[in-house]
Amino acid sequence: MIERDAAERGSEWPDGMKKTKQREAVLAVLERAEKPLCAADIRARTETDGSLVRLSTVYRILEILIKKGVAVKLSILGGETTVYELNRFRHRHYAVCVSCRKIVSMDNCPMERFVPKLEDGDFRVMGHNLEIYGSCKDCDTAGSR
Ligand SMILES: [Zn+2]
Ligand SMILES: [Zn+2]
Repeated sequence: MIERDAAERGSEWPDGMKKTKQREAVLAVLERAEKPLCAADIRARTETDGSLVRLSTVYRILEILIKKGVAVKLSILGGETTVYELNRFRHRHYAVCVSCRKIVSMDNCPMERFVPKLEDGDFRVMGHNLEIYGSCKDCDTAGSR
């Protein structure tokens, strides 16, 4: 019974993390999320499950999940907005609409076949950050009307 529940949830509960209703609610929101969410969005989604979580609690839980490697934090628009998503061990890039802050996920990575030319030849590249911004479909239509 317990094993089946875990499988249905899609991921395991982080090792050494105390289980609370609120933590379960936040993790469930991240698991169901189709895109990275800001803390306020996460909070709003936990409310629909019938359990209200305070925003400060949401932030605390998110910090724990990040430390456990379960979630990752992304800064977009030059750090103006912070969004969170489940760490799926596969990096992704996002395009952000500068008008409405909508986040559109990108399916490819321009760095995949890119070999960086570095002055330090022995520099070990561990990752990269890329921010794409522009105008989403909705905002584009509104602007040209
Ligand atoms: Zn937009
Ligand atoms: Zn990439």
